Amino acid sequence: MTCPFLKETQVRYCQSAAFRKMIPLASSGHAEEKCSSPKYPSCAVYREQAAEQTGGLCPYLRESLMQYCGAAPVAKFVPYSESLLSRCGNDGHRYCELYLGMAHPNARAGNADEIPLPDWLNYSTNHMWLDVTEDGVCHAGIDAFLGRALGKVERIGYVWTKGRHRPAAVLTVGGLEMELVFPNPLLLTGCNLYLRADPARLTAEPYTGGWLFEGVPSPETTVDLLSAAEARQWMDREQVRINEFLQQLQGGTGDSVSLADGGSFAPAMMRKLEREQMRALFLEFFSPYASGKSEL
Ligand code: SF4
Repeated sequence: MTCPFLKETQVRYCQSAAFRKMIPLASSGHAEEKCSSPKYPSCAVYREQAAEQTGGLCPYLRESLMQYCGAAPVAKFVPYSESLLSRCGNDGHRYCELYLGMAHPNARAGNADEIPLPDWLNYSTNHMWLDVTEDGVCHAGIDAFLGRALGKVERIGYVWTKGRHRPAAVLTVGGLEMELVFPNPLLLTGCNLYLRADPARLTAEPYTGGWLFEGVPSPETTVDLLSAAEARQWMDREQVRINEFLQQLQGGTGDSVSLADGGSFAPAMMRKLEREQMRALFLEFFSPYASGKSEL
């Protein structure tokens, strides 16, 4: 699906000018414009390579259909064919900063005991999601369960920003560095570098502005991932499992970080654990081999 902010317009431009200035047709043709008036022979660019005069229009004046972002403060025109190759012309627009800033999309769907699991994503059992769009591009990030457990993230660094890898990021929480790895390989084409300046978005908007990795999937990229329906059942079991794990970690007195009635654990509970407990919990639930994930 094309971005709703992608607009198109017919533009005019000078084929001979060193700098190609696009003039939308709607705003061209006003009284001072030389290009489409009999005054064009007085233009310096025309005089440099004067051609046979053709009446009221300069022979170097061209028209073309262009697209531009209606959400950008300054319209940058791109040829129709190029916008189809960029995220503007496909579902990848859901991860564009300008789109997110204007549209405020709501990704709260399919709750599993207060943990939202959007229907259009697939999930790995170390609490990450993958979104493969029709144009063959994919995005990955963390699910809301991991976001809730982490709370505030202080720093995010990327292990790789390009190439074929299991994408990985190093998250710093409560002073402890933890390596988060998507369990399957993909051709990494970019990372969400905005998160380095504003890491809070990773957990505040895990399915939209908090995305981590962008790439091109291969058949291996989706191996062993859960559909949203499967993930909802699995998530219910994860809620029980993490509460039991917390009870064990704290010698049966885990009520300070998990709810006493067996519901969702407390937000940002990892920050309340000792460092060794944090490591143990991260390894058990959020490493690429968590929850019985098969070896890769
Ligand atoms: S730059 Fe972003 S908001 Fe603008 S058209 Fe492209 S995807 Fe949409």
